[in-house]
Order: sequence, then C-alpha cells, then structure tokens
Amino acid sequence: MTSYDYDLFVIGAGSGGVRAARMAAGLGVRVAIAEHLYLGGTCVNVGCVPKKLFVYAAHFHDDFQASKGFGWSLGEPHFSWSKLLAQKNQEISRLQGIYGNLLNNSGVTVIDGKAVVQDAHTVIVNGQAYRCERILIATGGWPDIPDFPGKEHVITSNEMFALEQLPKRILIVGGGYIAVEFAGIMRGLGVETTLCYRGKQLLRGFDDDVRDFVAQEMQKKGITIHFDTTIQAITKTADGFVADSGQDQPLEADLVLYATGRAPNTAGLGLEAVGVALDGRGAIQVNAEYQTTISSIYALGDVTDRISLTPVAIAEAMALVNQLYGGSATPVDYDNIPTAVFCQPNVGTVGLSETEARKRYSDIVIYKSVFTPMKHSLSGLGEKTLMKMVVRRSTDQVLGIHIVGAEAGEIIQGMAVAIRAGATKAVFDSTIGVHPTAAEELVTMRKAVE
Ligand code: FAD
Ligand code: NDP
Repeated sequence: MTSYDYDLFVIGAGSGGVRAARMAAGLGVRVAIAEHLYLGGTCVNVGCVPKKLFVYAAHFHDDFQASKGFGWSLGEPHFSWSKLLAQKNQEISRLQGIYGNLLNNSGVTVIDGKAVVQDAHTVIVNGQAYRCERILIATGGWPDIPDFPGKEHVITSNEMFALEQLPKRILIVGGGYIAVEFAGIMRGLGVETTLCYRGKQLLRGFDDDVRDFVAQEMQKKGITIHFDTTIQAITKTADGFVADSGQDQPLEADLVLYATGRAPNTAGLGLEAVGVALDGRGAIQVNAEYQTTISSIYALGDVTDRISLTPVAIAEAMALVNQLYGGSATPVDYDNIPTAVFCQPNVGTVGLSETEARKRYSDIVIYKSVFTPMKHSLSGLGEKTLMKMVVRRSTDQVLGIHIVGAEAGEIIQGMAVAIRAGATKAVFDSTIGVHPTAAEELVTMRKAVE
C-alpha cells in the first residue's frame, strides 16, 4: 500500500482553499495547505474586504453632503488616506491572524511557500516533496492587463490597496465590477475620476436597465465616463500620464488603473506537464465533481474561471469535501446566485435579466419602479433608486430581481431566498411591506410596464 504524507494537499489559502482544508481536517483527514502570499487569499487581502472598507470610507462624502439637508452644519471635512490605509492594514492583519488560528486549530499543516505540482500525487514546496493522495488546486486569479505601449505605467486593483498617496486624477480602464467599484471609491474620496470602457455600456451581463441606471448615477456623482474607448498607448509626462485613445482629446491622469479582468492563476504550477487540461485562458477544466483530467487532482474557485465570487468558492469547497470525505454528494446549484456591485448606489441582483428571460420564455412581464428614496427627499443629492422584477406570466414565477439603490447588496440577499424558494409574484403581492423603506417597493409594484 502506498503511504502518503497527507490525504489532501491544498494549494492556495484563499476563500476556497481555507474552507476545504478546515472542513476536511474536521472530518479527520490529514491536510496540508500551501500559501505563498497571504492567508485568506484575494478576498481578505486585496479583494472583498479591503474594497468594502474603502467603499464605506467613500460613502462619507455623500453622507456629509446629505447631512446639511437634515439640519447639520459641519466644518470642512478632511480625509486622510494614510489613516484609512493604516486602519485597513490593521484589520487585514487581524483577519490573517484569525485565518492562521482557524487552520492551526483544526489541525491543518500550513506551509509557507509557492507550490508546484510534480506528478499526480506529489507537490513540491521550497524544494521539499510532499506525497499526497489527493491535490486540490485553489490558486485563484490574478489581474490581467492587455499588451499595449506604456503598459508598464499602469497599476491593478492589487496596488490600489497599498497606494502611498491618493492621486488627484485617476483614469480607470474597464467596465466590470472592479472598474465600477473603484470609480465610486475614488470619486467619493475626492479624486477626479475618469472611466474608459471599450463597449457601449458598463457591467456587461447585468440587466440593461441596471447598466443604464448605474452609468447615470455615476455620472451624476461626477465620474466622467468614455464609452467605446480603447486606450492605444500611455506615456509618462512631467506631471502624470497621458493616455491616447485615438480620439481628439488625450486623457490625462496622475494614476492609471487597469481593471480589465482576472486570469486564472495557473502559470508555473506545472499542470500541463502532469496532464491537467487547461482552457485557452489557463483555467483548469473540471467535471461536475471538481475533478480535473487527472483523477487525483481537483480544482475549484476562481482558478476554474466560472463564477468568480467568494461565496461560490466556499460553496464549492464544502461540496467537494462532503463528496470526498463526508459521504454526501450535494452539488452546488449555480442558478440564482445573488451578487452585488458596491458602487454608489449599490447594485443588487439575482436571477435572470430581462434579456436572458426573454430569450428563454415568450411570456415575460416586467415590473419596474424608479423613485427618489425618502432620504434623498431632503439630502439634496438627487440620488434615485431602481427596482425591477422579471416575471413569467404563465407560471407567475419571479425569475429575476434587480435593484440599484442604497443597501441593494443587503436587500438582495433576502430576495435570493425568495427566488430560490420559487416565490411567485402573488407571494410578493401578498407580503406586507415594511414602511417606510425603499425595499417595500418590491411588494407593492402592481402594474406591469411591459
Ligand atoms: P483566492 O482567494 O484568490 O486564493 C488563492 C490563493 O492561492 C491566494 O492566496 C494565492 O496567493 C495562492 N496561490 C496562488 N498560487 C499559489 C501557489 N503556486 N502556491 C501557493 N499559493 C498559491 N467576491 C465577492 O464575492 N464579493 C466581493 O465584494 C468581491 N470583491 C472583490 C474585489 C476585488 C478587488 C477582487 C480582485 C475580487 C473580489 N471578489 C469579490 C472576488 C473574490 O475575491 C474571489 O472570487 C475569491 O477570492 C476566490 O477565492 P479562491 O479561493 O478561488 O482564490
Ligand atoms: P470583469 O470581468 O468583471 O470586467 C472586466 C472588464 O474589463 C470588462 O468591462 C471587460 O469588457 C473589460 N476588458 C476586458 N479585456 C479588456 C481589454 N483588453 N481592453 C479593455 N477592456 C477590457 O473583471 P474585473 O476585473 O472587474 O473583476 C474580476 C472578477 O472578480 C469579477 O468578474 C467578479 O467575478 C469578481 N469581483 C466581484 C466583486 C463583487 O462581488 N462585488 C467585486 C470585484 C470583483 P467587456 O465587458 O467588453 O468584456
């Protein structure tokens, strides 16, 4: 019988890897986890957590403004980037400590270093070979910048979390989650913010009304957006950078952030040599059991380039460990996964967009409401809220809910439960509202608009 050093060797201590390691160890499995940058991975260190802290910081800009309409008068507010950064770093260190303790306390061996897969049962870290029955790759993703002259002058979201100082003017390239969220953060912190997107509307894949509405609200808050714009070259000048977009006016900025997507983190892992199939972008190909083309090697989370969200990586980890060691095989249901974009105001969305729903069914009805939420009747900010419901007429089933408004990320979590439970429009209609809230609109929309 072959003897292994570990039953399960996890590569990458991010959202998925840590959950899989802890849970497997809790079931008596001998687990090691290798991490070469930071415990907690992207989400804790350069993703969800520090991003949300920055979003809170940015929001005070509007709050100070709004307070005047409610009778407050303040002196000129002053913002200190270095103070925010120090506070954020302290919180991230605290979380890293918690992750370390959780792993140690559950009996996982934590190995500090970059792992390479040598064969179907061997992982090398810091020159040492570890024999293991199974290998789980949870190495996440990494920012992907296209090639163009001047690429060396731009930064990615990773560096945004460690900027020594806030720029006066920032140019953000991209139109996805990160570009839109950082545009809101930077504008809220007082930076002159310009966003360039190659397409006609931001947030491809989201409901079209949401996309239009977000762009309008961003512009109302002072963010300049250039659509149909591709940067061809960036040059450094005495006082910053100039981006040439092939249009009349070159764009000037002190800092250029590229948020043009993330590529799966598989380079240098040794996977091709071992026979693990990757797709053209380097994403690991897995079957429904998270198994790669080598039966002892598994992969989950962002490295598989499917739905790149922390709760999805965690759900996949739990499903895999249950399947391998827990005696149950409940697969992750990838339908109706709620998501939020933490711009100002937030986007919260679950289920089908109107376009997707109309592709699938011929009997779609839409309920939609655009209104000024009560807070903004006095805030002077002019911020509006959008609520939209996509319903199938023949079954009355609610197929999608899309919100742009304050705390949409919070509201959508509950809506996702309703949608997953198969709630019909009649159930929403018979639910008593909570008054006065913006969310009550979701149970009072009676007249279909289309
Ligand atoms: P990761 O968390 O990326 O972990 C992978 C780990 O593997 C890393 O720690 C890496 O250092 C390590 N690693 C890589 N290669 C090796 C190797 N060879 N040896 C050892 N270690 C290795 N998701 C949300 O749900 N909500 C949000 O609000 C949100 N905000 C985000 C904001 C930003 C700016 C970014 C970039 C992402 C955000 N995400 C958000 C996405 C979320 O962070 C990812 O989906 C999630 O972290 C994926 O988890 P993972 O375990 O697959 O990979
Ligand atoms: P996204 O895939 O969301 O967006 C990438 C953007 O860059 C798109 O607008 C894309 O345009 C554009 N783009 C891609 N290639 C180029 C290019 N060569 N030149 C110009 N523009 C280009 O990626 P992000 O980097 O914003 O975020 C990565 C992932 O992380 C997200 O998809 C999400 O899963 C996760 N995330 C989640 C968050 C949350 O839950 N709140 C927050 C942040 C990240 P086009 O649309 O035309 O392809």
